[in-house]
Amino acid sequence: MGEQSGRLTAEGTVYRNWIGGRPQDALSGETLDVVAPSTGAVFAKIPRSGAADVDHAVAAARTAFEGPWGRTPAVERGRILSRLAALVEAHADELSALESRDTGKPLRQGRADMAALVRYLEFYGGAADKLMGDTIPVSTGFTALTIREPHGVVGSIVPWNYPAQIFGRVAGAALATGNTLVVKPAEDAGLSLLRVAELALAAGLPPGVLNVVSGLGSEAGAALAAHPGIDFVTFTGSPEVGTLIQKAAAENRIGCTLELGGKSPQLVFADADLDAAAPVLVNAIIQNAGQTCSAGSRILVEASVRDALVERLAARFEALVAGPHDADLDLGPLISARQRARVAGFVGEAQAAGIPVLARGRIAADAPSGGFYHEPVLFGPVPPAHRLARDEVFGPVLAVIPFETEAEALALANGTDYGLVAGVWTRDGARQMRLARGIRAGQVFVNSYGAGGGVELPFGGFKKSGHGREKGFEALTEFTALKTIVLNHG
Ligand code: NAD
Repeated sequence: MGEQSGRLTAEGTVYRNWIGGRPQDALSGETLDVVAPSTGAVFAKIPRSGAADVDHAVAAARTAFEGPWGRTPAVERGRILSRLAALVEAHADELSALESRDTGKPLRQGRADMAALVRYLEFYGGAADKLMGDTIPVSTGFTALTIREPHGVVGSIVPWNYPAQIFGRVAGAALATGNTLVVKPAEDAGLSLLRVAELALAAGLPPGVLNVVSGLGSEAGAALAAHPGIDFVTFTGSPEVGTLIQKAAAENRIGCTLELGGKSPQLVFADADLDAAAPVLVNAIIQNAGQTCSAGSRILVEASVRDALVERLAARFEALVAGPHDADLDLGPLISARQRARVAGFVGEAQAAGIPVLARGRIAADAPSGGFYHEPVLFGPVPPAHRLARDEVFGPVLAVIPFETEAEALALANGTDYGLVAGVWTRDGARQMRLARGIRAGQVFVNSYGAGGGVELPFGGFKKSGHGREKGFEALTEFTALKTIVLNHG
């Protein structure tokens, strides 16, 4: 627990918002319960912030933007991010344990997420002073040049599946480029962000540059998205809320980035190394219990190797065990009873439609009965028109869909509304490139797959997976506006 971001009480830790460099309760004094997905028990409380708390946070961010942060040179912004990276690393055990308990993810995934947060901060710390503009040849006697300037105050609405990682990719790029931030973590999980905000002050980030305001999406989230004092908004989460965010941004006439998930396909051809592919294919849907926007949730397999691949996948699925975060098994619980009901709904519907279950994992016998567990399920063949082949389940459910030709595989890969990530498994070099170019997705992996991975790799959607890019150098462009300056020097 942080010295200031939370205080221990008989009801667990009561966390506070982080506004203007100080811990603050919600102005109403109201709190929300935080439930541990592994047990279903309340273990902490967060402020139930409202519009007035958001107003304070946006005002603090504005003051910091117009004050010290706006005058801080890029190299110094980078140094602060690098110092924060070192502080997060020094507190990695505490933060990973908190993230793991809060989200239910196995402890090693909590550690991986903190390592990724450190990498984001390091990457953007190093990149801060390397964003350069151009000079443009115009008429004689004139010099035209471009510089990238921060938007100003950025609002960030973070989901519960990877709080630390998604915070890292937003805060790293937004702060490196000189913006200030108001972050609204998800009510289901986001405690680590309150703690990291406290560490940021210790790293030398001026008060008000990074503010974290907890609360419900429909209250604090909606107030932040619609706030007239923000200059840009970035959102990761469900398509339905993404639409609301974009509408709020339109009303405000500001830009936004939306990352709205996917139904990412992995295409497996007959010439692929099936033994190398199988563990990667399984991990891509099991990581974080399938609650990953870039989860590889559809396997498109060439019919001639379907049985050989299914045999390998099924053997792995049957060995998978879900259990509490601290048991560090293959997967943890889902985030909430609501999310488990959603996943169970997909599974029940698929079974009612007669789609065969090829394999199932299990829930550990000693998993707490109040936890939100769902065993992994492998379905196939799944008719391409069925919901299970088209909609995001956000759970450990994998759909196998056979194909006969490369053209059919490409049509299936592109046959959903989404376009976030894809994997292509083949030894044929020309086919690798044909498909990498033909698939409409923000990232295509060949003979590998990175579910959510890649600090350095630009990431974002085609089609209805959203728009805008985060991660990598590209995010520096996203969090800045281009200014053109023309000098008439005769
Ligand atoms: P959500 O979109 O409701 O929540 C994401 C974030 O948005 C949270 O911080 C939430 O508080 C906030 N939010 C909710 N309503 C808001 C509003 N009206 N205005 C502003 N902010 C608001 O997601 P969920 O309900 O927790 O999950 C539902 C489904 O969304 C999941 O089953 C999954 O399919 C998808 N999802 C995708 C991702 C992803 O990474 N792409 C992440 C979370 C959820």
